Amino acid sequence: MQLGSNKADQNQTDLAMVNITACKGVTGCCPQTLLPEADWVKLMETWLSSAKVQERLAQRNALKSARAHKGLKIALSGCPNGCARHQVADLAVVGMMAPLFNEEACIACGVCVPECPDRALDLKNNRLIRQDHKCQGCFTCSGICPEEAFKPAIRQVGILAGGRLGRHPAWAREVARIESPEKAMQVISDLFEKFLSTSEPAARFGHWFQEQGKGGA
Ligand code: SF4
Ligand code: SF4
Ligand code: SF4
Repeated sequence: MQLGSNKADQNQTDLAMVNITACKGVTGCCPQTLLPEADWVKLMETWLSSAKVQERLAQRNALKSARAHKGLKIALSGCPNGCARHQVADLAVVGMMAPLFNEEACIACGVCVPECPDRALDLKNNRLIRQDHKCQGCFTCSGICPEEAFKPAIRQVGILAGGRLGRHPAWAREVARIESPEKAMQVISDLFEKFLSTSEPAARFGHWFQEQGKGGA
């Protein structure tokens, strides 16, 4: 496995089947990071090693024509800004902050409405309307409300899967939002094991996951 590079020109027996890209927030070098305290690169590498992900992917793909693009692209983004490009990764972890809304504290001033990058907030009939399905957990509203109506907020990790570029691009979809790093890794592990046990040997993870979308992965 490798961090942030691609060895697509290597030969079949030396293919890197796993590629991890981590943004600066994951190593604590960006103030925007919302990831819960944990060494995410280490957590991911521990899982990759214990589950023998690299070896099992290489073995499957050797049955057909192995190519590095059939490997697993993993992205770790410290916040929804997505500097690790988690939107086009096979598997991704994204730092989020889930705002808990206290309606009684809200004075319907509207300050938070234009500040939400995802247009998840609106003011109607002197009342704040939230569209939680649009919220990416960026923490902006929690930090800006003069009445602290969005506090406390909860640190979470978003698990996303199924993104890709290439000839038929697709955006990664959210699988879950979880508070505990250990549980987040378990979700990722379960997803990967399901992929191995239910897909064709030459299948790519991202394609498989998008097909599962109709029935839930
Ligand atoms: S994704 Fe967020 S935490 Fe990571 S480098 Fe970009 S702005 Fe910083
Ligand atoms: S900024 Fe706070 S008080 Fe004002 S509308 Fe938003 S949640 Fe309500
Ligand atoms: S956390 Fe971010 S995306 Fe969600 S409602 Fe608040 S400002 Fe909007």
